[in-house]
Amino acid sequence: MRFRWLLLLPSFLSVFLFSAAVQAGELSFWRFDTNQNRLSFSTRGGGVQPKAQLISDPARVVIDLPGTTLAGPTANQRLRGGIKEIRVGQVDDRTTRIVVELEPGYTLDPKQVKFRGITASQWTVDFPRPQRIGSSPSAPPPRRPPQEESTNFRYFQSLGAKSTQPTLTADVSQLATIESVELTNNQTQLLIRADLAVRATSTWDAIAKAYRITIPGARLADRIRGPQLSASSPVARILLRQQDFRTVVILVQPATGTQIGELNQLTDQLLALQLQQTRPLTPSVATIPVPPPERPGSVLPPTRPTSPVPLPGVRNTRVVVMVDPGHGGSDPGAIGRGGIRETDIVLSIGQQVAALLQQQGIQVFMTRNGDYDVGLGSRVVMAERVNADLFVSIHANAIDLSRSDINGLETYYYSSDRALRLAQTIHVSILQSLDIQNRGIRTARFFVLRKTSMPSVLVEVGFVTGGEDSVKLSNSTYRSQMARAIARGILQYIQQYT
Ligand SMILES: [Zn+2]
Repeated sequence: MRFRWLLLLPSFLSVFLFSAAVQAGELSFWRFDTNQNRLSFSTRGGGVQPKAQLISDPARVVIDLPGTTLAGPTANQRLRGGIKEIRVGQVDDRTTRIVVELEPGYTLDPKQVKFRGITASQWTVDFPRPQRIGSSPSAPPPRRPPQEESTNFRYFQSLGAKSTQPTLTADVSQLATIESVELTNNQTQLLIRADLAVRATSTWDAIAKAYRITIPGARLADRIRGPQLSASSPVARILLRQQDFRTVVILVQPATGTQIGELNQLTDQLLALQLQQTRPLTPSVATIPVPPPERPGSVLPPTRPTSPVPLPGVRNTRVVVMVDPGHGGSDPGAIGRGGIRETDIVLSIGQQVAALLQQQGIQVFMTRNGDYDVGLGSRVVMAERVNADLFVSIHANAIDLSRSDINGLETYYYSSDRALRLAQTIHVSILQSLDIQNRGIRTARFFVLRKTSMPSVLVEVGFVTGGEDSVKLSNSTYRSQMARAIARGILQYIQQYT
């Protein structure tokens, strides 16, 4: 999975959209007909089942298209007659969002918003005429003045060295390169990654109304990776600047309701700025029902109804878990049938494991939360730095492509009894929840198992080369079930043994 990002280059100020590597539908067309108050849109390469909500302050209908990326650039259309504008953008690497925002002081009845899917890739949405708040007895009173800022798409901007600055090319090789700035850990952490050891100082900049991080002995990468900022991001703006030829300054402007915590040095090359959400979500939200398309065809992804096993609650929420999706970046891990890549599968599962644990109040860190390189040593160092109590590495197995008959689950530990118990709990949880062959709990001298001081296990979630496993692991529902089973095992272990 690769993130899509917006990048402003100082030399020629234009916006690039890097297309996502994931196979997904694309929003190829949209149009709002003001005469009929009708939004039409279509996708290509895959159908979609939209999700819609009416959110207040300011009143807006938010339509999310899961599994859909945006074919063109983000766009705005200004309108009249109660509807202020339409914005089309991308909220994450797999979801396109269409926002239909009403003029301040207007609202509409969510029950009168009518979705119609002619096919899974061709939709129309009819909007009722917006009503002035107060003119209808059912209209909710405005809670507070409309916040223009709250639904704007946020941005990430990178500015290179000012052209007046001398460039001493001889020196550049000794400087650390700032490679990426990313929001991780469920948007509670801003990670700054360098290719060499860096030290930073930080302070609140009252004039810029931003947190200023100064990194001496560093330069910005030519194409620096930035986070995907959206209306719900804890950060309103990130500005990167090459202050002089050997100093990088990063300004982080928190969004309303976000408090900036301390700047931690996770590893020599990794800085983490803690972000804390202080504001509960106040706007009212009404779900708008969207019927399935009239002719779904074969383009819709399978949506098997599932009855997930409830996750056990835990009392000891002071436990810190490090989730370690294997591989990443230049190392895709094993490549299996149909070209499926271990790195994508384990990241998808790992992210869901982390989210599920977090929902249960567990403190979770991830060794990686995107498609980039992380060394084995760094993974261990990160776990030790955050004093992780448990380390769970997620991998997918592989053997020769001719051996499609080999499928199944393997869970590894190195030597300790506690690690064995953790391996057993997770292994059994997976076997109970999923239809997968049991290849047993095993010991192995894997680096991350040997070098970590806390109980650590490595789950091989199946064979990307296996005839059965490769099909299952390609299915997002199956991956979610796998993530849930792993999370359940971890929670059971915490409940019983900590
Ligand atoms: Zn692996």
